[in-house]
Amino acid sequence: MNQAQSLRVRQRILSGLQASLDRILRPLVGRIVTDHLVAALGAATRPLVGSARSGLAVSATQQYRAFLDGSGSLIAKPVLTRFTPPAWSGSVGKVLTVGDPVAVDHIEKLGRKAGWWAQDAERGTLIHYANNDKRIYAWARIDPVPPACPFCTILISRRAVYHTESAAVLGQTGEFHPGCTCTAVLVSQDNLTSFEGYQQTQDALAEYRLARKHASNHDLAGIVAAMQSLRDTSGGKTP
Ligand SMILES: [Zn+2]
Repeated sequence: MNQAQSLRVRQRILSGLQASLDRILRPLVGRIVTDHLVAALGAATRPLVGSARSGLAVSATQQYRAFLDGSGSLIAKPVLTRFTPPAWSGSVGKVLTVGDPVAVDHIEKLGRKAGWWAQDAERGTLIHYANNDKRIYAWARIDPVPPACPFCTILISRRAVYHTESAAVLGQTGEFHPGCTCTAVLVSQDNLTSFEGYQQTQDALAEYRLARKHASNHDLAGIVAAMQSLRDTSGGKTP
């Protein structure tokens, strides 16, 4: 399973999720939000997100199996525990405001949150394998649907992230915003400079270095801002 194949699976599952969410949510546009509606929507949409998560977790394991290429056995898949009913109700409750009417904008926001949760299962599964199977040297963040936003570009520029990296670096590289299309790629010692997406990490590094030179503030937010203004002045094109 290469990146293009796993991208197709991801897009098919995510667009199926959006379509089924739409079927539930579109008829509610204009309806005044109540606590009862929030709870009912949470309960009605949770299984849809859950099934997208299952599909994407399976895809992650297929990517892991392809990485091993038939050599040796697979380690146990992770038990994913983050997607609890309260976690999803929390996402729904953040988007909808009791007393306000449901708007198209709310549906889009909820769709992005659902997509985030769905992809969380794939990313979480891949990162679990990377962190626990010593045959995997590292994992790299790439965006198979470029251009990546400045925030993601900076994290992509970190290239392969190793087991031994600090928890802060690992944690931040594994941060994905709603609407983010980034994924994790498993990297072996042999393909450290030839894994699918390697060139993107090199390009991201070049853009990061340029932005860092222009940034007045060298924290993440400062470099994000510098990269955005460089992109704006170059007509939105990434160098
Ligand atoms: Zn991203």
